[in-house]
Amino acid sequence: MTARTLPRALTAAATALLVLAGGTACSTDGAGADPDRVDVVAAFYPLQFVAERVGGDAVTVTNLAKPGAEPHDLELNPRQVGQVSQAELVFYLKGFQPAVDEAVAQNAADRAFDVTGVAPLRDATAGGHEHEGEADHAEEEGGGKDPHLWLDPTRLATVADKLAERLGVVDPDRAADFTTRARTLRGELEKLDTEYAAGLKTCQRREIVVSHAAFGYLAERYRLEQIGLTGLTPDTEPAPQRLAEVAREAREHGATTIFFETLVSPKVAETIAAEVGAKTAVLDPIEGLSADGGGDYLSVMRTNLTSLRTALGCS
Ligand SMILES: [Zn+2]
Ligand SMILES: [Zn+2]
Repeated sequence: MTARTLPRALTAAATALLVLAGGTACSTDGAGADPDRVDVVAAFYPLQFVAERVGGDAVTVTNLAKPGAEPHDLELNPRQVGQVSQAELVFYLKGFQPAVDEAVAQNAADRAFDVTGVAPLRDATAGGHEHEGEADHAEEEGGGKDPHLWLDPTRLATVADKLAERLGVVDPDRAADFTTRARTLRGELEKLDTEYAAGLKTCQRREIVVSHAAFGYLAERYRLEQIGLTGLTPDTEPAPQRLAEVAREAREHGATTIFFETLVSPKVAETIAAEVGAKTAVLDPIEGLSADGGGDYLSVMRTNLTSLRTALGCS
């Protein structure tokens, strides 16, 4: 948590002001002022990507998470709470960003599209890296659900289909366009899925040592084993006991690469890598694009595939 939070009373007052100001606040933002477009607020990047691809020129998409910022612990300023209040559709993933959940519950419950309603999330513990007769590493998580479903492209395609249906309810005249665009996106995501399946089919290793355990869906889909330095949310200071355990795992599985993320400090990954004589490389959980903004979901996924193939010795 940062120190940006305003005193609660002030925040509430500013929010009320924004809500009262209505269209005025909208037009100064440049969002929501266009009556011909559906005003969509997306909670973080992969949802922005899907909304823009499915919505096309029939939507205006505002991303609540800024490029270069890690979105798990996103806090909303009064202006953003105003955007949620005024959106025609809020596209979010319940349980991923508590501040967004709260803003939706208070201001947009009837205009929200929750990704977790599309398909059940996997348990945080399911598919975790385990050895026979050892305690499950993921038990430290205390159960819970894994939100990172966008790292399985086939799941993201299903999310896109369902978003098209929902947009078709908001703007029935364009329902067919939304369906068509979702179908096109599905084709691209299925092509990506095919590339992943082929690219990771024959590899010398299948264990990936990653910064936070964001890759459960990817690991499940392509038969990899995820070993996370921290759990479902990024943590800059994992417990020393966990670090020792991961170093042991990395040695045992002959890991040549310790992965780190673009939006989180690489320090811990570098420490482990030095200890076990491995390299570090980026494996991007695509929770947000980096601040220099290169690429999109599809291109970053392809970069990730190249990095995985190198690290795992795939032929
Ligand atoms: Zn995450
Ligand atoms: Zn192991």
